[in-house]
Order: sequence, then C-alpha cells, then structure tokens
Amino acid sequence: MSYTYDNQNIFAKILRDEIPCNKVLETAHSLAFNDINPAAPKHVLVIPKGSYVTYDHFAQTATDDEITDFVRAIGEVCKILNVEPGQGGGGFRVISNAGEAGLQEVPHLHVHILGGRNLGPMVSKSQ
Ligand code: AMP
Repeated sequence: MSYTYDNQNIFAKILRDEIPCNKVLETAHSLAFNDINPAAPKHVLVIPKGSYVTYDHFAQTATDDEITDFVRAIGEVCKILNVEPGQGGGGFRVISNAGEAGLQEVPHLHVHILGGRNLGPMVSKSQ
C-alpha cells in the first residue's frame, strides 16, 4: 500500500511558515522544534522537509541526502539538548509513532527526542 500525504497537516503548515514553531535547528532537509505539549523536560521533534508520512515511508523512498541530513540533524539536536550519554548527558529516547497501532497524531514523519528525566519503561505492557 502506498502513502498519500495530506499537505494540510500541522507540520506541513509549520514548514510553509503558516504557523510558528519554536525552532531548535534547521538544515537543508530537516527541521527541529520544541514539542508544544512536552512529555519530558526536553522534548524536541525532528521532521524532514519532504512529504513523508511515516518512518518506513521515509526509509524506503527518501534520497540518501535526505536520510543523511535527517539522521545527522537528530545527532545535532542531541548535542544541543546536552543529553548525549557519551558527553556526560543524562541520556534520551528517540520515538517515532506510525499509524494506528503507534497512535500517530500528525501524519508527517517526526521523531520525538525526549530527555531531562528518567523516562520509565519503553512501552506499557498493559492492554
Ligand atoms: P505523534 O502522536 O507521534 O503524532 O506526536 C505528535 C506531536 O506533535 C505531539 O507530541 C504534539 O504535542 C505535537 N504537536 C502538535 N502540534 C504541534 C505544534 N504546532 N508545534 C509543536 N508540536 C506540536
């Protein structure tokens, strides 16, 4: 099944500068900004500028340049947030929710970078 991108989603509007964001980093192919409803003291979203719905969509169809840029942007945000364990930071978690089971709310690929506290178990075992 192929993906249909909804260009009215909120992150598409941020990329078109139709609504503001609290920018953390911008690169050639990626944008990082603070989550509007943070789940941890440090909570940044990193998105590609291209029209990708989910992580698998991006991983399977993005260009090598876009993929390199996105992965490097995530690394740079970890540095900016001071969460790198190898540099004395307290660690972090990267999450990308996709589709129904992942409870994805915004249909534009994003990874959450969370840190600043102990984040607890990775996934609830209930339900
Ligand atoms: P997900 O459930 O993985 O799709 O996460 C979507 C995330 O986008 C949530 O953590 C929201 O708080 C966040 N979010 C929604 N609208 C905005 C916005 N305008 N600026 C920043 N973050 C947003």
